[in-house]
Amino acid sequence: MLFDSHAHVDGPEFDADRDDVLARARAAGVQRMIVIGAVGDTTSAERSVALAERDPGVWATVATHPHDVEKMTPAWWEVHERLARHPRVVAIGETGLDYYYDHSPRQLQQEAFARFIELARAVGKPVVCHIRDAHDDARAILAAGRADELGCVIHCFTGTPDDARAYAALGYYVSFSGIVTYKTAQPLRDAVPLVPRDRLLIETDCPYLAPIPKRGKRNEPAFLTHTAEVVAQCAGMSFEDLAAQTAANTCRVFGLSAP
Ligand SMILES: [Zn+2]
Ligand SMILES: [Zn+2]
Repeated sequence: MLFDSHAHVDGPEFDADRDDVLARARAAGVQRMIVIGAVGDTTSAERSVALAERDPGVWATVATHPHDVEKMTPAWWEVHERLARHPRVVAIGETGLDYYYDHSPRQLQQEAFARFIELARAVGKPVVCHIRDAHDDARAILAAGRADELGCVIHCFTGTPDDARAYAALGYYVSFSGIVTYKTAQPLRDAVPLVPRDRLLIETDCPYLAPIPKRGKRNEPAFLTHTAEVVAQCAGMSFEDLAAQTAANTCRVFGLSAP
């Protein structure tokens, strides 16, 4: 079994064929997925929870992506605080810092990130973090929020091998996306064996970042197999062992029973 630890299948990109996409995932061995309800306004969180309510192999997270925190209103926070307690919501996220795009001012990203970590503590759930070109600031905010006690996933890891080592030392989980299959991503492949096997996750981040040989297409959970093959090679594991290990890790961090 493969577990896609980060998918945006709630989004409009999948409105036309969502049931087919979920069926193709299962046919490819991707039995479970975490749907990230955090893109744009709070309708993403609502849609993700609704999906998790009707599919026993799907769980949701809720937050507002660092790109969009500038638009947050008190009403958005109320929605997140309510949905965070929903039994099918297994984490707060994706939250974090993105200094590559800087779509929202850094100060606001930092404040929202700290507040989402507080919300995670209030509801006793882990955090899923989106960190791009901001690893030092992110580690400071996560340490101040004692994220190690909550459980912490660094999703779609794009840092250096040293960043991977630093996150691993803090006990965080590090998740690799389809980027790890790209020709130019040798530093990411070098980072894989630096993450302890019990902290390794894989994800599609679909519809974005389709792995080779699907690069350029809309990504979907069924394509996780290509990422798993490359991560297994880098980790020196068989495909089957990597699939079982990452699925077990995903269950552990999100508090789910083993399949
Ligand atoms: Zn992200
Ligand atoms: Zn994402």
